[in-house]
Amino acid sequence: MTQFSEFHSIPALGEALRSRRISAAELAADALRAARGYRDPNVFLHIDDDLTLAQARAADQALADGQAGPLTGIPIAHKDLFVTRGWRTTAASRMLADYVSPFDATVVDHLRQAGAVSLGKLSCDEFAMGSGNENSAFGPVCNPWDADRIPGGSSGGSAAAVAAGLVLGATGTDTGGSVRQPAAYCGVSGIKPTYGTVSRYGIIAYASSLDQAGPLARSARDLVPLLDTMSGFDPQDSTSLESCDGRPNASGRIQADFDAAQSVFQAAGDQPLKGLRIGVPREFFNEGLAADVGAAIESALQVFESLGATRVDISLPRTRLSIPAYYVIAPAEASSNLSRYDGVRYGHRAAQYTDLADMTSRSRSEGFGDEVRRRILVGTYVLSHGYYDAYYLQAQRVRRMIVDDFQRALSQDCDVIMGPVTPGTARRIGDNRQDPIADWLGDIYTLGVSLAGLPGMSIPCGFGGDSGRLPIGLQIVGRYFDEGRLLALADRYQQTTDWHQRTPEHA
Ligand code: GLN
Repeated sequence: MTQFSEFHSIPALGEALRSRRISAAELAADALRAARGYRDPNVFLHIDDDLTLAQARAADQALADGQAGPLTGIPIAHKDLFVTRGWRTTAASRMLADYVSPFDATVVDHLRQAGAVSLGKLSCDEFAMGSGNENSAFGPVCNPWDADRIPGGSSGGSAAAVAAGLVLGATGTDTGGSVRQPAAYCGVSGIKPTYGTVSRYGIIAYASSLDQAGPLARSARDLVPLLDTMSGFDPQDSTSLESCDGRPNASGRIQADFDAAQSVFQAAGDQPLKGLRIGVPREFFNEGLAADVGAAIESALQVFESLGATRVDISLPRTRLSIPAYYVIAPAEASSNLSRYDGVRYGHRAAQYTDLADMTSRSRSEGFGDEVRRRILVGTYVLSHGYYDAYYLQAQRVRRMIVDDFQRALSQDCDVIMGPVTPGTARRIGDNRQDPIADWLGDIYTLGVSLAGLPGMSIPCGFGGDSGRLPIGLQIVGRYFDEGRLLALADRYQQTTDWHQRTPEHA
């Protein structure tokens, strides 16, 4: 238990800080104690009290000066894929086991400037490749709802830390589902915004055309200030957007859209979502979907209907193809991005070698784990002469068709899309060790959204699994730049349900 565990939301804790009922320094010290004492030592990969307490003192100064914003003094932490000055940045890889960046990622910088106090670095799958956080070179992370189970991945440490109440917000990255899927498995809320909204500068690259950062927190309302602060145009990232549909990509946009959607809902009285068409893709309810997940999604849809929304049956015919397309494109980009870890420019260098080629080869074999090597092999293969047309180019064509499917649905049939995040609930740690491809198949509902660059979120909508105690997530996907409205919709749902307020017993 931390002092802030009695505050269930960022606005409530922010209010306590601004009214000086609690200081940022006390809060940070308490949060550090809780993080160090937490039963799963693998959630955090690096904690440094001095760095955290210095941020907390700066937050207290801002509070004293009346300069505080909604995040001032709020304890957060960063996925270990964001580079940070001071704290090590390992990408959960032996390759970068002792790497300390000389600069902060733009996201880290934005959150620090907003006064958020970082407790350190959170575990993830190695180079963000995986769906269970088991690919970390520093050991798996446990799901706070059931210690035998995965928290999801790749942002597993982020989801576990929020679910366990160690922080009120955490950064994550989502290349093919890595914010949404762990949020679903850990019963927290998470959002991946439109590609290009949040700067990738200083985020260790996995697949650059897909990588996008987003926050995880208890509720949609908590996600608003986090995402609003994280987003914004950054000239240091060549794919960062200067404008979002004619409006500057700047902090304030998401908050404004959230507020605007809220007031429309409010004005509509007891049918706040009247007129909203929710597309439900029939391909998301195939034989692979577990019955308990399907039932929880159905109940959630009924809540939205009771708020005035209408349900539309839609088709995303290329859903199945998102798996092969993604697992060609992402490894292709990864194989290129990871070429920099050669023991010279970056990364671990083998102690013994005969010549330069041998040094690179040994350094990479020692530094990278199995899954990363698997991805590099696949990526190099699909990009190689003779296979490029058959695999890589073909995957790009399929990607275009997947984008078209979503565009058609969201322009003609519906305003938002809803469905499951995952086919089932969190599996046991170790279950897919012999069959890594099984995890790839589990990404079926999240990959298309990433390939299309659309905003998508996950919010808790029930429990299932054998014990009936494993969280289930509802996925909400919107049009480009619809983040603010998605968050407002999720907030509406969370005002009528309490799934997001449930916390694991023993965390
Ligand atoms: N599970 C997917 C993968 O392994 C997604 C990971 C991610 O979004 N970072 O590539």
